[in-house]
Amino acid sequence: MIKVFKFGGASVKNAEAVKNVGEVIKLHPGNLVVVISAMGKTTNELEKVVESYLDKDGKVNEHLQAVKDFHTNILNDLFKNKTHSIFNEVHNTFVEIEWEIEDDAVREYDYVYDQIVSVGEVLSTKIVSAYLNEIGINNKWKDIRNIIQTDNTYRNAKIDWKLTDELVQKELKFDNEKQSIFITQGFIGSSSELFTTTLGREGSDFSAGILAYCLNAENVTIWKDVPGMLNADPKWFDNTIKLDNISYLEAVELAYYGASVIHPKTIKPLQNKSIPLYIKSFVSPHNDGTLINNETKQDSLIPSFIFKMNQVLISISAKDYSFIMEDSLSHIFGIFSTFNVPINLMQNSAISFSVCVDFDSQKTMLLIDQLKKDYKILYNDNLELVTIRHYDTATIKRVTDKKELLVEQRSRNTIRFIMKN
Ligand code: ASP
Ligand code: MG
Repeated sequence: MIKVFKFGGASVKNAEAVKNVGEVIKLHPGNLVVVISAMGKTTNELEKVVESYLDKDGKVNEHLQAVKDFHTNILNDLFKNKTHSIFNEVHNTFVEIEWEIEDDAVREYDYVYDQIVSVGEVLSTKIVSAYLNEIGINNKWKDIRNIIQTDNTYRNAKIDWKLTDELVQKELKFDNEKQSIFITQGFIGSSSELFTTTLGREGSDFSAGILAYCLNAENVTIWKDVPGMLNADPKWFDNTIKLDNISYLEAVELAYYGASVIHPKTIKPLQNKSIPLYIKSFVSPHNDGTLINNETKQDSLIPSFIFKMNQVLISISAKDYSFIMEDSLSHIFGIFSTFNVPINLMQNSAISFSVCVDFDSQKTMLLIDQLKKDYKILYNDNLELVTIRHYDTATIKRVTDKKELLVEQRSRNTIRFIMKN
């Protein structure tokens, strides 16, 4: 049987963390596919490279140099032998970005973004793979772009499941006699025109889910810097509780509302094949963590709190104050879809339709300008969207205390608030 591991940015943020990945892998003797994200905050740093390149603010080389220095430091810490071929490989990988930014951009932001930002995952996997081979954990590096095939919706690419499945069988061949380990990239894929695509921020979990599905894996483990799935982000809450065992459904709900521990798209492929998903700590890999499977234990009833900051509430009404009817709703949804802006919450009243979205420096104002062409728009930014699963009076009080409520939505298991501080 094959296991799929996913290591996120925090688990490879420096040389020590990479060494720890080796320790975790050593604990697992069987066949493995290891999916890895970009190191530390590399994705954010590469986003700055993209912005500077497209804005022509003169800082593109400075930002790129920061990414280079960061990786070079890790390499120097990991490899005593400075003539190891990995130094050259990493150098050559950076040359790919340099080619990309040599001339002025001719294509759109999302396309350029994917070509540049995807390099973070290529770098991290090359470094980790070379290091593991160096310390005797034999593995093969795989370019996931020869496996995960997508459409060309850059920054939010949709999977071609049939083609991907065929390529998984072809490219990831296991030998039952001896252990095989493949190291590959999360987050990225390839369009049919052979351009790199990305699956959306934090998409590496989803990559692990896709591979596990196609491989009929025994299970998936997402290795994190937290002990498992908690009932709230410790960043906002003291006294968080670890959920020991929750159902796929509960996990999908929590992830959908914004629990940042797993990417929401990860669960469905695993659920379809009843593949268990573990969330475990790479700091204490022997501990149980959270198990997500078909079971439903009472854990699911522990109240969970999900906070989404930096929200924008856009209220849309007809310019003549007529009702927002089906035809306008369909038109409005079309605009959100064209701009590729996910809707976090929506609500309608007689004359207005309100939509809550994440603030995005590139997209939000463009979206609002487009909506303004046909509708009267009001918007409020810097809001919080809070979701409580399995709420009660005390938990509601805990989150809404001293806050101004703009929207409240309640169903049997879930309550949601849009609030101003
Ligand atoms: N490196 C990507 C990101 O930071 C993908 C991931 O970490 O899952 O969004
Ligand atoms: Mg990450």
